[in-house]
Amino acid sequence: MGATLYELKAAAGALLKGFAVTFRNLWRKPVTEHYPDAPVNFLPRYRGIHVLQRDENGLEKCVACFLCAAACPAQCIYIEADENTAANRISAGERYARIYNIDYSRCIFCGYCVESCPTDAITHGHGFELATYDVTALLYRKEKLLEPWPPQRTSAPV
Ligand code: SF4
Ligand code: SF4
Repeated sequence: MGATLYELKAAAGALLKGFAVTFRNLWRKPVTEHYPDAPVNFLPRYRGIHVLQRDENGLEKCVACFLCAAACPAQCIYIEADENTAANRISAGERYARIYNIDYSRCIFCGYCVESCPTDAITHGHGFELATYDVTALLYRKEKLLEPWPPQRTSAPV
């Protein structure tokens, strides 16, 4: 008998807690995005399509160390490195990424590449419109990932 009363009390308590949450949210402003009719409001740490960053002089921050590719659990980053020369300086380091591809048909947006990068060269932007019928269009090359130079006001890297 005592055990049944205890269970009834616990169930009533759980029900009341549930209804309290419901009623609290009844009066809150709904969080509804009206995409595509209105721009989406992203939280600052949203992990969208990557951006390859430049330094204040416009040089690419990527020094082709391959750490991001090594950290990627989906193995979707492909890099080919090349040497900087006095006549052709692309990054501030010894090497730069001549080729830097990300295959978004495999990327799981885990952020490991961003965390592993020693120069903050790769970050997540707020791009998210990846849907396509053509899987080859999901292979993003460096030219598409690289921050434009001179900088544009619309780019929003994290
Ligand atoms: S976000 Fe994750 S899966 Fe995507 S490229 Fe970076 S490490 Fe790889
Ligand atoms: S993006 Fe960063 S981690 Fe990846 S190769 Fe370039 S410098 Fe290294």
